[in-house]
Amino acid sequence: MVTGLESRKRINNLLNVRKEIGDCQRCQLSQERANIVFGEGNPFSELMIIGEGPGEREDSLARPFVGRSGELLDEVLRDNDITRDDVYITNIVKCRPPGNRNPNLDEMNTCEPFLYNQIKAIAPRCVVTLGKVAAERLLKRNVKITQERGRALSCSDFPHIFLVPTLHPSYILRNGGKGKDNLMADIGYGLDLISFGVTPTQMQEEVYKMWMEQNQVDFEKGKNEHTDTSTHEKGP
Ligand code: URA
Repeated sequence: MVTGLESRKRINNLLNVRKEIGDCQRCQLSQERANIVFGEGNPFSELMIIGEGPGEREDSLARPFVGRSGELLDEVLRDNDITRDDVYITNIVKCRPPGNRNPNLDEMNTCEPFLYNQIKAIAPRCVVTLGKVAAERLLKRNVKITQERGRALSCSDFPHIFLVPTLHPSYILRNGGKGKDNLMADIGYGLDLISFGVTPTQMQEEVYKMWMEQNQVDFEKGKNEHTDTSTHEKGP
């Protein structure tokens, strides 16, 4: 729970990021956009959802995920007993790539400081990335989303925050709804990770400890089996 001065500081930090963006002309996306889509939701949320870039409807309304993908996202949030007011939603790039193409490297690099400052201002415990572009951008490596989705990862720039990659809603829509259950489960897993109240490092340490303990038990058992001859039948 964030209270008092801390909440004031967070809101100010977030407003400062928006001020810093201003009427951005830093990359070519500014040429064709109608609006900058900064992001919206609960600035104190422990869960941040990061997509790729605004689509046509988002561009015209200056709000993230308000088209068909957004409807699907709203549905899976509801299935997890939360709404978009409980999370903070933004994108890797804040302006619409023409024709909904993927944002290019220059565009993502240009927008990255703003995204990073948004993450720092909100200080979530978990980020769920939607689709390959967002996951690869934050993890700084290639990601095979169908294999790595739903895992508790973390990125080197924010090692104290869980990163759960999942499918992009528009991919699910293109696939006739296949993968919706995965999207719902992965967001649910992000919420579970938050409720555990640990950081990725603490979780790794716990898993390591459990693994060591289990191996120690197996090791002791194996040792006893080899040394304890009392139960062995003696030959005639
Ligand atoms: N797709 C995205 O990646 N972001 C949006 O805001 C909308 C669609």
